[in-house]
Amino acid sequence: MKYFWRDWKNILRDWEKSSCRILFLDFDGTLTPIVNDPKKAHVNEGMAQALNRLASKKSNQTVIVSGRSLKDLRSRFSNRHVLFMGNHGLEMTPHMEGMPFPAKLARKHVPFLRILERKLRITFMFWPGVWVEDKKYSLSLHYRNLSKDQFTMFHELILFFQHKFKDGPLVWRHGKRVWEIRPRVDWDKGRAVQFVHKKLKSDFCLILGDDTTDEDMFSRMRDKAYTIRVGRSKRSSADYYLKNTQDVRALLETLSRLPSKHRSMSGHELKESVLCRN
Ligand SMILES: [Mg+2]
Repeated sequence: MKYFWRDWKNILRDWEKSSCRILFLDFDGTLTPIVNDPKKAHVNEGMAQALNRLASKKSNQTVIVSGRSLKDLRSRFSNRHVLFMGNHGLEMTPHMEGMPFPAKLARKHVPFLRILERKLRITFMFWPGVWVEDKKYSLSLHYRNLSKDQFTMFHELILFFQHKFKDGPLVWRHGKRVWEIRPRVDWDKGRAVQFVHKKLKSDFCLILGDDTTDEDMFSRMRDKAYTIRVGRSKRSSADYYLKNTQDVRALLETLSRLPSKHRSMSGHELKESVLCRN
């Protein structure tokens, strides 16, 4: 894993040669620092301006890919050119619809999520450091504020639930102080990104993320994209790393200020012709 800025000149050369660029960006821990209350996560002004400049250029397509719900993501951005994939790719901005079978199948498993959600809410009702977030097609069990003396009990309860629901159509994935629970289908951020990347036919792709679910994007797109993890890790499939969200901001600001030389095949034109069919 190389520090991104060490290879910057090669990447810049590819960026300048390309005419339709796509950026897949995770949200928490990538565009915003991880905060104790996910509702308070905020994209700072410099980052937002860089994103707006990037998204507004015809030759770029900016896609936010997150475990958050689509509704939540859309409420945080005002630029109409930014596209969104929520719930780890189970929800997409309407004009990216036309989802493959596994993503549709996931929606059928939602009643099981509701059953588990009710049980988790009752179990953790009196745990102030733990809360369940209903994201329609997935659940997040956050424990960012769990006190140290409750860790053992918490993990025992998680093992109990995982065992109890092991034959059900749900899968548990551990992230940064969160358990993501979603339908057990062959669909994740990596599959979703592959799907959109194919539709857009871009000639430059950059992927940024910081957590375990982003590894699906890194591994599936490794030969087609510059994959960058926020925070160095020996276990990551990403080729590059950036140190933190300030480093991400520096990258997005730099890219947003580069002149666009090629406009013959623009991202927006592609969006109109390929994606906006409904
Ligand atoms: Mg993240």
